[in-house]
Amino acid sequence: MLRILINALRTGVVTTRYPAEPGVPPDRFRGAPVLRSGSRLPPPDVCPSGALTERFDAGGRHVALDLARCVFCGRCAEDPWEGAVTMGRDFELAARSRDDLRIEVVADETIHVSSTAEPARALSAVALAEADRASSEIRRVLGRSLQLRHLDAGSCNACDWELAALLNPVYDVRRLGIDFVASPRHADGVAVTGSVTRNLETAVRRTVEAVPDPRIVIAVGACAASGGIVGEGYASAGGVDRILPVDVYIPGCPPRPEAIIFGILVALGRLDARRSRRGE
Ligand code: SF4
Repeated sequence: MLRILINALRTGVVTTRYPAEPGVPPDRFRGAPVLRSGSRLPPPDVCPSGALTERFDAGGRHVALDLARCVFCGRCAEDPWEGAVTMGRDFELAARSRDDLRIEVVADETIHVSSTAEPARALSAVALAEADRASSEIRRVLGRSLQLRHLDAGSCNACDWELAALLNPVYDVRRLGIDFVASPRHADGVAVTGSVTRNLETAVRRTVEAVPDPRIVIAVGACAASGGIVGEGYASAGGVDRILPVDVYIPGCPPRPEAIIFGILVALGRLDARRSRRGE
């Protein structure tokens, strides 16, 4: 017993202060690709998940990156496209709309974002400003803590592990008033992982419908956000938004735990907006 106490004192506090303080990903961490101006941007067939597309017009060649589809594999940043594309370290990428995750670059000019889209970094800055107040915000919106039901719609389990990590001593989301419950009837929302397999399509729909309204639906990871590397086919319906409205998309394959915390904070803004519309 004494040894346990001594070890605990030696270890100190391991819990991250994110989001009150910026998250610092490990050195090996690979975030979203950054497309730079230049003529050597990769063709779409380099990307294994179909995240890159191109179009041509009078303005030249436009290359678009869909962060919801990107699995951050780094292939587009390898030789000979090294320099034109670099792998960034951003993980605060969650957005309320698929359009916000689409970044378009004009090959010979500076980076542009499609007119409907909001740059991920701008979104990040807004949400980070709110993040210091995360715990009190959750209670203000919900009147209590935020209860989520984790729903695996057909994932490889990578995102599920990252969701599970939210409850460990390092991330400890309960300090923010966020917890996971066993029943959708006790939840305020669902965190869905994986592309929706045809076998689970009805189950996913029914589970989400069992959550009392207003509810939030969070698509965690590239598969849930877009179908990811699995895409759509006879066995997969694709992303969650193919069968249900999604409130927040969290890119990543898998997204790291801080990225999921960031996405949940973005989702809370959505819940608040819905309640205001209903005059609650
Ligand atoms: S990092 Fe993303 S955009 Fe680049 S090749 Fe991999 S999946 Fe495609």
